[in-house]
Amino acid sequence: MAQKGVLRPGFVQVRVLDMDASIKHYQDHMGLEVVSTGSDGRVYLKAYDEFDHHSIILREADAPGLDIMAFKVSDDEYLDTFTQRLNGMGVETTEIAADKEQQTGRQVRFETPTGHAFSLYAEMALSDNGPMIKNPDIWRKEPRGMRIERFDHCALVGVDIKGAANIFIEALDFSVTERAYIPDNGEPVAIFLTCSNKAHDVAFLGDPEVNGKLHHVSFNLESWNDIGHAADLISRYNISIDIGPTRHGITRGQTIYFFDPSGNRNETFSGGYTFYPDNPVREWTVDQMGKAIFYYEKEIHDRFVQVYT
Ligand code: FE
Repeated sequence: MAQKGVLRPGFVQVRVLDMDASIKHYQDHMGLEVVSTGSDGRVYLKAYDEFDHHSIILREADAPGLDIMAFKVSDDEYLDTFTQRLNGMGVETTEIAADKEQQTGRQVRFETPTGHAFSLYAEMALSDNGPMIKNPDIWRKEPRGMRIERFDHCALVGVDIKGAANIFIEALDFSVTERAYIPDNGEPVAIFLTCSNKAHDVAFLGDPEVNGKLHHVSFNLESWNDIGHAADLISRYNISIDIGPTRHGITRGQTIYFFDPSGNRNETFSGGYTFYPDNPVREWTVDQMGKAIFYYEKEIHDRFVQVYT
């Protein structure tokens, strides 16, 4: 487990079609705070319980989807270590200079064989509006909307998920917490990875025909009760729902899935088991995928495995 090395998912950059509609969704309904707007129009947001400057960047574009998922690393030396390890296993890296507007230190970018772009960075300015640290109240200002605590994880769709996962395991010291596989040939159909104590920090979902797609961006809520509150808001504001409230077999997390106005799937997630790196990998056979993904319904609806951005 990486108390040093990769600490956690840090931020995502998501493409949206209409910035005003997206701000209404992410700020007013989900309850994130807009912290700044870039000179190029990109909008930076964070959740109330996050210390760093931002955890999600919205970029207006012609098509929805995910530009980058970025992980925060414990210190600058690890950026060099990880760069060497990535290059050593044949993964190309690109260095992005520190950016004042983004309040972010230098980044190391790489791509997985599934066509997803990742970034590693060690420095980000603290938010002026982060959690209190001296005689701290539980929050600085009462949480709004879905009461999101923090950005939690992404699930990404691609063909060579074994190759993608291997980069995280070999170069970045991630652990596999859980996987689903085809018993006949042992090939994985889903791989869940963590750099921490969480049940997952990133997941790769296999699709024989689709690369580089986003399945969902997930945000953490405090409780099952808050998942219900999110469901109330989804109905009240006619947000397009995918499924839930329900529970995952994989991770055991409680969940509700819905779509932002551009069609990107969001999840609000609560719970999930605590993982330690000596835990055995939990495994699901593909015939049990219904229960693995939706523990109560025990079946997966078509939209969940067909709609990606
Ligand atoms: Fe998820």
